[in-house]
Amino acid sequence: MVIGLIYMTKLVSACLLGVNCRYDGKNALEPKLLELLKEDQIIPICPEQLGGLPTPREPAWIVGGEGSDVLKGAAKVISRSGEDVTENFRKGAEETLKVAKLFRAKCAILKAKSPSCGCGGIREPFSFDKLKNGNGVTAALLKKNGVKVVSEENPRL
Ligand code: SF4
Repeated sequence: MVIGLIYMTKLVSACLLGVNCRYDGKNALEPKLLELLKEDQIIPICPEQLGGLPTPREPAWIVGGEGSDVLKGAAKVISRSGEDVTENFRKGAEETLKVAKLFRAKCAILKAKSPSCGCGGIREPFSFDKLKNGNGVTAALLKKNGVKVVSEENPRL
């Protein structure tokens, strides 16, 4: 007999849920992910918007390292035109962590390859198709604080 359901609270990249928050003003809706999450409490987050960046906005890349290096001050996030948006990315990561703590979210499903949300692999500087190992800035900060992070490409937690 089922006497209760355990609902898990998960942060999810808002673009994966159909929110038009990507740099190009579009989304990255994953209908299969929505189906997978239907029993969970999900909290949509977009770290780049939480960091104060507009939508649409220029694409940006981590230069000189990966997310944890940005948090240490050893790498930067640079937009296509060369603007330093590192502080926006750091602020977005911190605000996302704040949300995770508020709702006691212990896990997150974040958009693959993004300089904010990427988990395990991010884009090479100024490339859309070449990848390097590493996490985005938000993924790195969540992991550092004990939140389990996966991507929509392998969303089982
Ligand atoms: Fe926002 Fe992350 Fe999606 Fe980029 S990948 S649009 S930062 S939620």
